[in-house]
Amino acid sequence: MFMLGRFGKTILNCLFPIYCVECRREGTWWCRACRGTQKQSAHFFETPSPLNGLLAIWSYHSESPVGELIQQFKYNHSSAISELWAEILPAELPVAVASASVVPVPLYSRRERERGYNQAKIIGRFLAGKLQLPFIPDTLKRVRATRQQARLSRLEREENVRGAFISRPAPSEDVILVDDVFTTGATMGECAAALKANGARRVFGFVLAKGE
Ligand SMILES: [Zn+2]
Repeated sequence: MFMLGRFGKTILNCLFPIYCVECRREGTWWCRACRGTQKQSAHFFETPSPLNGLLAIWSYHSESPVGELIQQFKYNHSSAISELWAEILPAELPVAVASASVVPVPLYSRRERERGYNQAKIIGRFLAGKLQLPFIPDTLKRVRATRQQARLSRLEREENVRGAFISRPAPSEDVILVDDVFTTGATMGECAAALKANGARRVFGFVLAKGE
């Protein structure tokens, strides 16, 4: 990804104007006034094993501003929204993970090629940068295509992703596993199990938003 200068951005904004998801003000995905001036921070949630807990910034509702942004980020080829995440992601976590590595949930290779990017990888790279932790994107691999989880029940989700991930040796004992959204935890649970079978001791999930 190359960086655009101010001039390039101005031209892009003229061609493809962006609007605040809440107040429709032009030139921003989500303006400062709407998202509040408070620093965003991640909150800790208990989860069933093998995850050791979940860190999430927001709650997820598809009609909320954040939900809408995440949908666009995921499905509308809006990788430019990543600029917003870079600005918003916290530089501290509510758990002690000084020597952790950051690992994204992988997409199946064909899906990543079609979409052009993996949203979890983009979020993970920014998060690792903010926390000054190593980012190890190729630790996990999705070894088969899975159905989109959105319309599946909890049990169907668990079956859909069972055995879908393999892991290289975990890069550190503590791992921060990154995705965009956490719903039933089926995907993150499978990834955490694969990491723990390969040397990880604790695996914390990190997502932008947690479904309710
Ligand atoms: Zn606004």
